[in-house]
Amino acid sequence: MLDEPTPGVALRIYGAASLRRRCREVAAGEDVSALAAAMLALMERAGGVGLAAPQVGDLRRLIVVSEPDRRRSRPIVMVNPVIEERFGPAVPFEEGCLSFPDLYLTLRRPRGVVVRYRDAGGAARTLREDSLLARVIQHEVDHLDGILFIDHLTRWRRWLLAGRLLRLRASGRMPLGAREARA
Ligand SMILES: [Zn+2]
Repeated sequence: MLDEPTPGVALRIYGAASLRRRCREVAAGEDVSALAAAMLALMERAGGVGLAAPQVGDLRRLIVVSEPDRRRSRPIVMVNPVIEERFGPAVPFEEGCLSFPDLYLTLRRPRGVVVRYRDAGGAARTLREDSLLARVIQHEVDHLDGILFIDHLTRWRRWLLAGRLLRLRASGRMPLGAREARA
């Protein structure tokens, strides 16, 4: 299984199998603190604003997000996040993804979300957001269902990227070494 233990988490790049899998719910009482801590450290090291467990090869529904536009002091750990509602106009924004180094795509997503999740301590929470954080949450929750940001492109735009995606996919299938992710 790809549900592997946390030590030595490494970023998975496009082409890795875990990025296309549907993740399972975290059970009540299941300890995900080590996974969350490792993901937070990796996100910070990579300079990202969000990271989902399948991006480190772990197929559990857990994401970490930070607020790009508000400098909240601590990022948020979301266990089993569910987007209950999307609202507002679909707004364009240039997104990156840690699993696609150096690829930035302008995508439209609804401006706001209401997301229900459990926090790192297991408490049920609901968050209503219409800042950039709402976009990050949508991007990361997609990952938990094996959906990647390139899936939101039109066929034509995806076709234009075909060569780059092929090269990335090849790199994602290489054995994992000390590959650095820059974005
Ligand atoms: Zn991503």
